[in-house]
Amino acid sequence: MGAWLEGSTLAKKIKEEVKEEVSQIKKERNEVPGLAAVLVGDNKASQVYVGMKQKNCERLGIHSEVFKFKEDIDPSELKNKIEALNQRDQIDGILVQEPLPPSLSSHEVATTILPEKDVDGLNPCSLGNLLRVQSGLRPCTPLGIMELLKSQNIEIKGKEVVIIGRSLLVGKPLAVMMTNAHGTVTVCHSKTRNLPQVASRADILVAAIGRGAFITPDFVKEGAVVVDVGINHLTEKEKVKELFEEPEKRLGDIDNKGYTLIGDVHPGVFNKSSYLTPVPGGVGPLTVALLMRNTLKAYKLRRMI
Ligand code: NAP
Repeated sequence: MGAWLEGSTLAKKIKEEVKEEVSQIKKERNEVPGLAAVLVGDNKASQVYVGMKQKNCERLGIHSEVFKFKEDIDPSELKNKIEALNQRDQIDGILVQEPLPPSLSSHEVATTILPEKDVDGLNPCSLGNLLRVQSGLRPCTPLGIMELLKSQNIEIKGKEVVIIGRSLLVGKPLAVMMTNAHGTVTVCHSKTRNLPQVASRADILVAAIGRGAFITPDFVKEGAVVVDVGINHLTEKEKVKELFEEPEKRLGDIDNKGYTLIGDVHPGVFNKSSYLTPVPGGVGPLTVALLMRNTLKAYKLRRMI
């Protein structure tokens, strides 16, 4: 029988700590950390994410600014905007919301952000620091996963860790963090052969794929810790009834919002795992909390506090 590995409580604790420290900084130095979010195009999910980040900043007393640009913005104009933010003292963290339109290079954009303001941790310098096990700003989602495991004293040292998904945002940096924590790490992707067999070796299994309920119990070793990173919109009521033993709340979501959020992990995995992160309420809230903590960290790093 599994247990839920909730992220919401830890996220709340991290945010309370950040709020307290921001308030202390305001008292002592009469200034607060600042975060600039850049949004290109009109992707609805990106608008929701940026709105949520802005709201979190407000609640924690962090100064926040949002810059919106049309999808057809010239790459050089975006570069100039980011360089201007690099120069501004009031801005400690800069994030450019992904996905970017195909006309813009995610690599160029991430490289333009100064490493000391790179709160998403995706600049080549930040990623290099991670590889080299040097201090620096780390990508928020993998960092959140590491913090969540640590909060429950789930040991990584010597464990078989299987990560499904090799994106720069989640899978790759998480593989490095898990390796640095002495896990024995396997990274899987769409070309991996015998995926259920490879996955079922894992003591700690992480799914970051983007395919709803893809990880069924046959991917999971009895007693494994399972971290579900996926966020998928499910709109079909029949599928909800098929997946969930108690589907009422999910069906209500579909009535109210038109969808319910599900992870990459099938609910049937719960009983086979020792821990499973819920969706929603697992990894997601930690990503935002760690972004807030990274902004505070960036503020302190630049001022050598
Ligand atoms: P991504 O860039 O699309 O990467 C998906 C990865 O999954 C790729 O490496 C892909 O393999 C692999 N994959 C796809 N289909 C597969 C299959 N059938 N078998 C094995 N591997 C397969 O996605 P991402 O940005 O990493 O995000 C993954 C999921 O996490 C999404 O649902 C996203 O919304 C969610 N997410 C959540 C948070 C959070 O805060 N909770 C943060 C970030 C992302 P290839 O490389 O071979 O294509």
